[in-house]
Amino acid sequence: MDRTNSRDRALRERAQAVIPGGMYGHQSVGLLPEDYPQFFARGEGAHLWDVDGRRYLDFMCAYGPNLFGYGQPEIDAAYVRQLGIGDTLTGPTELIVQLAETLTGMVTHADWAIFCKNGTDATSMALVTARAHTRRKTIIRAKGAYHGAAPWCVGRPAGTIPTDKASQILCDYNDVASLEAAVAEAGDDLAAIFAAPFKHDAFIDQAAPDPAYARRARELCDQTGALLVVDDVRAGLRLTSDCSWSLMGIQPDLSSWGKCLANGHAISALLGSDKARKAAASIYVTGSFWYEAAPMAAALETLRLVRETDYLQRLESLGRRLCDGLKARAGAAGFGLRVTGPVQMPLFLFDDDPDLRKGFCWSSEMLARGVYVHPWHNMFMCAAMTEADIDGALDAAEAAFAALKRQAPDLGPVEKMAFLTAQG
Ligand code: PMP
Repeated sequence: MDRTNSRDRALRERAQAVIPGGMYGHQSVGLLPEDYPQFFARGEGAHLWDVDGRRYLDFMCAYGPNLFGYGQPEIDAAYVRQLGIGDTLTGPTELIVQLAETLTGMVTHADWAIFCKNGTDATSMALVTARAHTRRKTIIRAKGAYHGAAPWCVGRPAGTIPTDKASQILCDYNDVASLEAAVAEAGDDLAAIFAAPFKHDAFIDQAAPDPAYARRARELCDQTGALLVVDDVRAGLRLTSDCSWSLMGIQPDLSSWGKCLANGHAISALLGSDKARKAAASIYVTGSFWYEAAPMAAALETLRLVRETDYLQRLESLGRRLCDGLKARAGAAGFGLRVTGPVQMPLFLFDDDPDLRKGFCWSSEMLARGVYVHPWHNMFMCAAMTEADIDGALDAAEAAFAALKRQAPDLGPVEKMAFLTAQG
């Protein structure tokens, strides 16, 4: 897509002057194909418009927060109503109690909640709570798993020092022997085992959690007195309305939530069981905006829709339609396309594509046809998508596979964004 003379291009140039690197984090310049827009103008339902007025069916859903559709009327009305009454005040409103009651009623393991703003707040609070509870230091987490952008877990080393990641042991997700070895190495200093609900690392195939791994993590925590933490920031509410590992009958001691909890409004949470209540009450955690009432009103409305609608069946059936349709179309075009992860959060990777050339090229072809897909990160379904949207995306995919076939193989090397993979 030619973006010369576009508004996006002009904004990129201005951003280069006033935003380090032109943009940061997961929207850093260079992480996506060149023709992807950097700037958006608006969103509605399942669709996004870039600053040049192009409309896309959005399979990224803001990297997760969009669960019921951008600007979902009931959720946004609750938000705006509360904004008119009072948002950031000297202290919380009664909504904080209602929301904590709602979440502890929904999530089996949870007896209490602390609210914050981003997923990283919640995972970092889980770390501190576990250390306060056990009075020990060491945590175990899986190689390559993303838990946020704080120095203790961020993948890119710039600006961090080795002690930021001291007292951590990395294991291989779903590998019981490696988990057991990590616990043995921690000796009598184990504070927590962190786990993603399923393997949803970038750049590689996603994988379901092995129930044996989850069970062993639970047992090892029980044996050692460490806390089990499930990081449900990304997958929360997309697999079940309970904590994701409850699908395997495993209850953690702590779980972190964020992203779609208020359908895009800024709120996240750490939920915990009674076991960890005293420790959670002992740590000092807060933020100027952590009591904000309007996102809590939006979260309550989001959770009402979670309870009262068939959104989950919708996500599943739409996701299945997309994933099955894509596999069939890729196969018919002669491409090996690996579609991994739960259908509500699928990831598409091409066979024989070590530097993601095919993935980048295909994604660009999809974008040109009005479908925003991601070449190396899992995507997200939202309940505002329709069967017709999915069928349109599949038509686009068929044309994009055909276009990919016509491309010369030398598209130029694509950086694999090593800083994101190099967790550790
Ligand atoms: N944990 C997981 C599993 C995540 O996917 C993310 C965000 N992608 C985070 C934590 C951090 O959340 P946030 O970006 O809201 O700080």
